Amino acid sequence: MKTRYNALNSYLKEKFGERTLKICIDGGFTCPNRDGTKGTGGCIFCSEKGSGEHIKSRDISTQIQQHLSSYRGKRANKFIAYFQNFSNTYASIENLKIRYDTALKNDKIVALAVATRPDCITDQIAKLLNSYTKTHYVYVELGLQTANDKSGKILNRGFDSGDFENAVRILSNYDIDVVAHIMVGLPNETFDDIKRTVEFINKQNISGIKIHSTYVVKNTTLEDMYLSGQYTPPTLEEYIRSVVYIIKHISPSLIIHRISGDAPKDLLVAPEWNLHKKWIINGINKVLEQQDVIQGDSYLEN
Ligand code: SF4
Repeated sequence: MKTRYNALNSYLKEKFGERTLKICIDGGFTCPNRDGTKGTGGCIFCSEKGSGEHIKSRDISTQIQQHLSSYRGKRANKFIAYFQNFSNTYASIENLKIRYDTALKNDKIVALAVATRPDCITDQIAKLLNSYTKTHYVYVELGLQTANDKSGKILNRGFDSGDFENAVRILSNYDIDVVAHIMVGLPNETFDDIKRTVEFINKQNISGIKIHSTYVVKNTTLEDMYLSGQYTPPTLEEYIRSVVYIIKHISPSLIIHRISGDAPKDLLVAPEWNLHKKWIINGINKVLEQQDVIQGDSYLEN
């Protein structure tokens, strides 16, 4: 079948010459939007573990070792150390260095991926990340969710799109690839917001995009909003329509890291379709096929 978008797996295979998989790591970080620096409640959709609910151990070496010796560790020879939970640049430089160094010790780790929020990027941090580029591929996954700062306020995210632009600028100055994380189906958002977020993304110096569906998990403000009728999650059809639009309108050069969420079964409240990753991915591929859409087809129309 014709490849209709630049999927991360193919990109990694080409870059490293073979299948390369992620190891999700909980680096023991917190978030300024939870510890009181920016806020205490966190973003309204954020679970108590700051995503990455399946990760159990706190010790970084142990997490990597456990992964490598499990069946998943036998599925490839090369891996990305992916710091997933909370804001993985939110610590002193010394502390960050210890954690990243630990993660990169094993020879099978060929890349460092760090998920964080835009207001947790400084020149010093970018410089530290750049120091690993001599030996590893390094990228930062930067939360944006939406370019609409009014929605951002409803999300209680505690930063704005200007912070995102600033972080991208800093990371670009240090030659660090940026992956923008966006969400479809946020409260207060319509299809026009998706269009505006795509326009915004297309003006940024980024190398990739991660598209995530908004889902409701237990013990979040979004759950309260959902139960009181203030929030209605998107249907699968609405989600597919948005993702197809995004793929069609983003730059053909961007790497697409994800086109679905990864809802934790035990915490998911709604929508139920989020548990069926195959339905989502097959549904998107089917529409791309039916409409004969290739990534970036309408990029220049933006
Ligand atoms: S910035 Fe990320 S980790 Fe922090 S509260 Fe928001 S979603 Fe959670």
